[in-house]
Amino acid sequence: MTDELKPFLDESQLQWRETVHRFLAKNCLPDYVRECDEQKKLPEELLEKVAEQGWFAVTLPEEHGGIGGYLEMAAMVEMAAYHSIALARHWNLNVNMVGGAIARFGSPELKERMLPGLAEGRLRFAFALSENGAGSDAAALRTKGQVDGDVIRLNGTKMWISGAMVADYILTACRTDPGSKKHDGISLVLVPAKAPGVEVTPIPMLGGHAVRTCEVNLDDVEVPMDLLVGELHGGWKQALSVVAKERVSLACMCVGGAQAAIDLAVEYATQREQFGRKITAFQAVSYPLVDAQTRTDAARMLAYRAAWLLDNGYPCDREASQTKVFASDSYMKTAVDGVQVMGANGYAAEYAMQRHFREAKLFQIFGGTNEIQRIVIGRAMGL
Ligand SMILES: Cc1cc2nc3c(=O)[nH]c(=O)nc-3n(C[C@H](O)[C@H](O)[C@H](O)COP(=O)(O)OP(=O)(O)OC[C@H]3O[C@@H](n4cnc5c(N)ncnc54)[C@H](O)[C@@H]3O)c2cc1C
Repeated sequence: MTDELKPFLDESQLQWRETVHRFLAKNCLPDYVRECDEQKKLPEELLEKVAEQGWFAVTLPEEHGGIGGYLEMAAMVEMAAYHSIALARHWNLNVNMVGGAIARFGSPELKERMLPGLAEGRLRFAFALSENGAGSDAAALRTKGQVDGDVIRLNGTKMWISGAMVADYILTACRTDPGSKKHDGISLVLVPAKAPGVEVTPIPMLGGHAVRTCEVNLDDVEVPMDLLVGELHGGWKQALSVVAKERVSLACMCVGGAQAAIDLAVEYATQREQFGRKITAFQAVSYPLVDAQTRTDAARMLAYRAAWLLDNGYPCDREASQTKVFASDSYMKTAVDGVQVMGANGYAAEYAMQRHFREAKLFQIFGGTNEIQRIVIGRAMGL
């Protein structure tokens, strides 16, 4: 660890980042991460240890064990991703996204019911916004949420839902007021994943195997009104605020993942010999690594800048989109170059580089594609 983050983090935050790194270096070994990916299973043993540390509470309100804000979140996610993208995604989805939404918008009763279980790692969540016909245009969602006395009755299909297979509750965006305009009349409801009428089916994907991506079919699912999160019909704004926070954390994951890919490629290239010399003697090998490190440092600065802005209550839409685009494009390029630097071993299952190659692509797509982020940035520039 270097002092590169001193402009953004105080001593205790720097210490926190270092603590997470050290703990994971000991408890999240590369063979274990590979095994979870190959067997398509969550790193359950690791999640248990992380829960024992109290780290599922980190960014929750203080009364639920929280210790910090967005900068602590950035440090947690960056370091988690350095060791395991699956761990970082699981943590982000549960604590940062759904936990954050419940903490911010949920009723006091709902918080009391959900947050202790989340903080202890007992309750798991997923977030279901996307549908087949509503991807980038997420507000076009058609899942119905018919209000019927004290229940909401859901019908529809959600697509690409991360972690739904292991979730206890799926925070689901549905249309509760079909008569109103596109962005109005949407609500967020915590659907119990085992409720009658909920069917979760995993979708085979290129990567993200340990987290799993699923189709969630909702057939006349009755959800009690007390599982509504926030205002009835006010869900779109709430969903947007979840996604805006997600952009910063996705960028932090890309920084952690890219740094891990660079460290692996450097370790490999400084040992590998061809033509009687270390391959790092060839500038064609060393320069892509130099550029990757420079880009990753820049991505890290952008990510922590955005987290600092959020923590200090400044607007951050443009900066959140900038860091998401830059960090994910950078991670992808680093992974592509990393495979090349390692030759056949870069492509081999034994090494983590092929996983970075598969994982990095995802970050250019989800959380709002990079094209959509560029639209957001352009708008903020008056274009
Ligand atoms: C592994 C994985 C996990 C995911 N997890 C979740 C999850 O947990 N919850 C959830 O709700 N969703 C999840 N998603 C869905 C994800 O958010 C969407 O895939 C994403 O928003 C893009 O939607 P789409 O795939 O339908 O692409 P489309 O919207 O169909 O876009 C296709 C292409 O067109 C481009 N495009 C579309 N509109 C424009 C425009 N106006 N200008 C320029 N270009 C445009 C896009 O950038 C893209 O390149 C996940 C996706 C993946 C791959």
